[in-house]
Amino acid sequence: MNYSRSESLFNDAQTHIPGGVNSPVRAFKGVGGTPVFFKKGQGAYMYDEDGNRYIDYVNSWGPLILGHNAPEVMEAVKAQLENGLGFGAPTEIEIEMANKVCEIYPSMNMVRMVSSGTEATMSAIRLARGFTGRDKLVKFEGCYHGHADSLLVKAGSGALTLGVPSSPGVPSVLADLTVTLTHNDLDGVRECFSRIGNEIACVIVEPVAGNMNCIPPEPGFLEGLRELCDVHGIVLIFDEVMCGFRVAKGGAQEKYGVKPDLTTLGKVIGGGMPVGAFGGKKEIMEYLAPLGPVYQAGTLSGNPVAMSAGLAMLNAIEKPGFYDMLSEKAKKLCQGLEALAEKHGIALTTNQVGSMFGFFFSEEKSISRFDQVSRCNMDQFKAFFHGMLDEGVYLAPSAFETGFMCSAVSDEDIEFTLAAADKVMANLAK
Ligand code: PMP
Repeated sequence: MNYSRSESLFNDAQTHIPGGVNSPVRAFKGVGGTPVFFKKGQGAYMYDEDGNRYIDYVNSWGPLILGHNAPEVMEAVKAQLENGLGFGAPTEIEIEMANKVCEIYPSMNMVRMVSSGTEATMSAIRLARGFTGRDKLVKFEGCYHGHADSLLVKAGSGALTLGVPSSPGVPSVLADLTVTLTHNDLDGVRECFSRIGNEIACVIVEPVAGNMNCIPPEPGFLEGLRELCDVHGIVLIFDEVMCGFRVAKGGAQEKYGVKPDLTTLGKVIGGGMPVGAFGGKKEIMEYLAPLGPVYQAGTLSGNPVAMSAGLAMLNAIEKPGFYDMLSEKAKKLCQGLEALAEKHGIALTTNQVGSMFGFFFSEEKSISRFDQVSRCNMDQFKAFFHGMLDEGVYLAPSAFETGFMCSAVSDEDIEFTLAAADKVMANLAK
């Protein structure tokens, strides 16, 4: 493929944009080479500035569960545009959105809209700290919850890809309040709580992790967290920014039947526009300003254009069979990749939960821990990524990110993807 225009744009971008990108993982640091500059998307496909077409398994990092330019979303946005871009004052559509979210997520009695996942998690943590009067928080290594100071300690996603899981610039007085434990290890949580449970405000977890590749919860992990948090009076926060509306309509909490105290949402809920949300139990949410003392605000929060995109998306995913259909597609892709790897004698394992999937170049048959992900063959991943890109398949440019399936991907697109993987793996095996 010819990437000459992307190369030239990347060169230009670096003059006034740090690293040429507005979010680090876009810079292809995890795979090397030049990031592709995109011009448009339609359905399952994205088209770059050189005119190359790609089947998209990144979906704007999750939001585009219907694919690009979904007609119902685009029409809703256009209709709202006629009325203006926003008012910084209440609108009816915000009530519709809140009602819809609380209906789909029964653990949420109340919800506040924000403009990004980072804002959602940062605010949920402040609220949990205000509510409990405690300062410490527990997170898990390899999980990513946005770039708020307290959360950039042993973080996943781009922080991991770039090798800065604990970022300079986070004051140590703050980082010291973040306790990082091993994901999927309930014994570690039990031991920690028995020592300092009465100092901990909240536990935040990606109930299906997507920022250290795709890692489902081990049986009993989420249930155990729920029990332990109840015993110690700790607020349990499910960060469903990524897996919400993805692994099931009602997210991981619906799929695994565990109710958190607070939930953070993002990505799909905005239909592709900048939206996040946090919500949960009434008695906790009532601590939030203007009802309660914990402050949180946003100029563009609940923006009507963003709300209309998000609501159109939430209405579309309620179609019967939508999630089974997505899951089947993701399963077909993963099974196909495993079969091809076996054919070519390459060690590869996949994980899949609903429309989130991950593939691991590893001898290990089952991957459920962060240290296993870290041990995967990164050179093989990079070669596979670039090979697939050249064949017109856009995968997440890092071995520490999950893949996403959208409803616009057809059976033919999956077959195209597998034919590409067959070629690329034949080269890898040489
Ligand atoms: N939480 C999770 C689980 C995420 O995956 C992300 C982003 N990938 C965030 C929070 C932060 O969201 P944003 O990038 O919108 O700030």
